Amino acid sequence: MLLKDKTLIVTGGNSGIGEAIVLAAAAEGANIVIDYIVHPDETKDVIAKVEKAGGQAVGVKADVSKVADLKELVDAAVANFGRLDAMVNNAGIETRTSVLETTEEDYQKVIDVNLKSAFFGTQLAAKQFIKQGGGGSVVNVSSVHEDWPMPGNIAYCVSKGGTRMLTRTAGVELGEHNIRVVNVGPGAVATPINQSTMDDPEKMKTLNDAIPLGRMAQPEEVADVVVFLASDKGKYVTATTLFADGGLMQGSVGL
Ligand code: NAD
Repeated sequence: MLLKDKTLIVTGGNSGIGEAIVLAAAAEGANIVIDYIVHPDETKDVIAKVEKAGGQAVGVKADVSKVADLKELVDAAVANFGRLDAMVNNAGIETRTSVLETTEEDYQKVIDVNLKSAFFGTQLAAKQFIKQGGGGSVVNVSSVHEDWPMPGNIAYCVSKGGTRMLTRTAGVELGEHNIRVVNVGPGAVATPINQSTMDDPEKMKTLNDAIPLGRMAQPEEVADVVVFLASDKGKYVTATTLFADGGLMQGSVGL
């Protein structure tokens, strides 16, 4: 029980990697706060799965691109479970548009949902951790694209590159409070964001050929890394990224 009686916020916890993180954390004994954007039904299924496994989770309405909504998530952790131990900034979107095509609206939306949310999620969690006497961790779900260009997805790459520097700088600044800030950098993961690739056998072959481990990750394989880093097992890891990419960044060029 790596997270027994710990409280985690997992943004985007009702889909893909986020849902896998919620379930993996619950299996390790955590209490969890999950956001929904419009209606509580969005988190109904995942909360039911957590409860079936004997855990506790609450859904809170929050658009992570809004600082006031992120604050609601922290307040809900404290109101429901008495404290906050880890903030997992996982929610993310992409536009798959090129440098020349990307509109002001596309750019702003991706930066706000992916990067602004990770920054203010980190800040608000850190303030709560300090109020509790220090300690605590922030895990930002970044991407191989924090360091590796993806032509045709510029705003996403900019947002994840920003997350890399957020984590390095915040990790260094907050070390004096024993607060850790880390990134997990997934490669290609079998989630709804990649449905069109998964539906195309030719694209899947090209992708699998480029990955040293020969396949996409399952969301649970990324979730295990997040749980490790959020727990005390990762207590000497901060201000860095752990890539969970099957060796993709090292083993191929220009995919
Ligand atoms: P997904 O589309 O399955 O889930 C995204 C989640 O973010 C959903 O729960 C959605 O409701 C939530 N979300 C989006 N906008 C939001 C907003 N404004 N407010 C609150 N919640 C919002 O995607 P996923 O593949 O599970 O991706 C999760 C994270 O992993 C993202 O940050 C993504 O960039 C990163 N990632 C994914 C892959 C991959 O191959 N799937 C690879 C590298 C990194």
